[in-house]
Amino acid sequence: MKITFPHMGNTYIAVKALLEDLGNEVILPPRCSKKTLELGTKYSPETICLPLKINIGNYIESIEKGADTIIITGSCGPCRFGFYSVIEQEILNDLGYDVNIIVFDPPDGNYMKFIKRILKAANTKNAFKIVNSLYKGSKVMEAADNLKRLSNKVRAKAHNSYEVDMIMDNYFNNIDRVHGFKEILNLIKETEYKMNKVKIDKNKDVIKVGIVGEIYSIIEPFVNLEVEKKLGHLGVEVDTSLDTSTWVKHHLYPGPIGSREEKRKWKEAKPYLSTLVGGHGRETIGSSVIYAKDGYDGIIQILPLTCMPEIVAESILPTIEKDFNIPIMTLVVDEMTGEAGYLTRLEAFIDLLQKRRDEKVNERVLSRR
Ligand code: SF4
Repeated sequence: MKITFPHMGNTYIAVKALLEDLGNEVILPPRCSKKTLELGTKYSPETICLPLKINIGNYIESIEKGADTIIITGSCGPCRFGFYSVIEQEILNDLGYDVNIIVFDPPDGNYMKFIKRILKAANTKNAFKIVNSLYKGSKVMEAADNLKRLSNKVRAKAHNSYEVDMIMDNYFNNIDRVHGFKEILNLIKETEYKMNKVKIDKNKDVIKVGIVGEIYSIIEPFVNLEVEKKLGHLGVEVDTSLDTSTWVKHHLYPGPIGSREEKRKWKEAKPYLSTLVGGHGRETIGSSVIYAKDGYDGIIQILPLTCMPEIVAESILPTIEKDFNIPIMTLVVDEMTGEAGYLTRLEAFIDLLQKRRDEKVNERVLSRR
């Protein structure tokens, strides 16, 4: 079995480790590119949201590399994600690809069903080995997300922020060459070590920006036009409200261990939005309130064009902006998004945040006189 799966930020690192540890041959799709997007756009319904188009591009590129089995993530909705697995299967069938498709829905309490689907993808029926591999996979995911967070912090304060890019590019290139948990975790540790050696200005008072929005657009750098990197080069420390390890904790681990963070988001969102609107619309609101309370300078919401849950959230964000006196900018991404205009908007937003920061400092100085 030659298994593939779509790209989604760092997720591929853990899924690759997990499947390899279970003895599968993994065919990684090439990193998302213009070609991926063109393929996906060509074969997907015109009005479907961007993540599905990129998924289709990923599958086609992997099938061309020899993949014969695809793992597709599923959901029960209520937004279009609930139909993703069905639409994707139909598109691939219509294109005449002869591939096995395994759909992974989040367990949300039904662990037997979840394990059965894993047994289909695993090379073993040994439940202990599978659960152990899943646990180790979640640890790789956490380590990969922690490394990304560290890179964001270091980039904002580095004497040469491009040094951070070089270290991260080298890490991503090496991911393709290492196999299984042990080798991947060692690579992450080595990269962390190099990252901690980058010269930084420890006392630099950096602007802090929180990113909220639709999960795929937040964590897949090709889709958000590498927003974390771009902000880092502007000297901004970025935090993303969602990443895969948080999602895994929330959906795989029961009780208070996994869902504490999400529960806080729902609690903070409640005065503004008390019900589920699909995707991560409610989390966008909760995370924005948390960033505002935590003293962040600004918030950026990212969403794919026509993303229903985020459009609902977008309509509520001006109230949060007013209630907490925090600037919030919304960026909509689709296949037509131009890099130059995107960067200009980011730069203008950071200029605004810097100006507000300077004014606050001046006010403090004047009040002391
Ligand atoms: S959250 Fe938005 S982008 Fe994602 S599937 Fe739902 S509607 Fe599409």
